Amino acid sequence: MQYTRKGILFIISGPSGVGKGTIKKAVLPGVGALLESISATTRQPRGHEVNGREYFFLTPGEFSNWIQQDKFIEWANVYSNMYGTPREFVLKNLEQGHDVLLEIDIQGALQVKATMPEGVFIFIAPPSIEDLVDRLCNRDQDSPESIAARLAASEEEMTFMPQYDYVVVNDNLEDAVDRTRAIIMAERCKISNMKMGG
Ligand code: ADP
Ligand code: 5GP
Repeated sequence: MQYTRKGILFIISGPSGVGKGTIKKAVLPGVGALLESISATTRQPRGHEVNGREYFFLTPGEFSNWIQQDKFIEWANVYSNMYGTPREFVLKNLEQGHDVLLEIDIQGALQVKATMPEGVFIFIAPPSIEDLVDRLCNRDQDSPESIAARLAASEEEMTFMPQYDYVVVNDNLEDAVDRTRAIIMAERCKISNMKMGG
């Protein structure tokens, strides 16, 4: 008996500051082959970021061209910058049986859900609004206005949780990482994700 699998698309999503990036980084080393999709964005690189590693940094004009050329699976304006998931990398790898991970905002995840409902949608939720406030402030990355906008958006964003397949409450980081890893492992064992031959 030969067991092979289709590539699985995993989507980690949730409100800004909830810990998506932190969980993604911690999950990756322990889950075997899981390819990270590199998004395109119009925002400026931060200190250590390298074009083509964290993001493809595009000008607004370049980003519009990519949209026109249908190069994105999804794209969204996230707090005044454009972000999008390049289509070719994702589709090519899924076709070849490789699992792919997206870490994107909620608007983007809902677009992916509309076109690729077979993806595994994981909602990262804050333990409380107070924790979300603390994390956004402690991250020391956004202005008070920007933090206020993220908190305001988070209220509506939470209402989309029922459209996801899983929720991971990011209380204790290690536990949240373990649960995310468990979801990934379980999905890989699903019979419906297998192709069985000879
Ligand atoms: P996101 O990618 O969702 O915007 P980040 O991964 O940047 O969020 O996390 C926001 C802040 O919260 C960071 O400073 C991070 O270190 C912190 N953080 C993440 N997870 C936890 C956790 N479980 N407990 C406490 N702080 C956390
Ligand atoms: P940051 O600029 O801090 O790296 O990311 C800001 C937000 O944009 C995060 O919520 C992140 O998940 C989201 N994001 C990153 N890449 C994409 C993408 O390709 N599409 C969408 N819709 N959101 C993205």
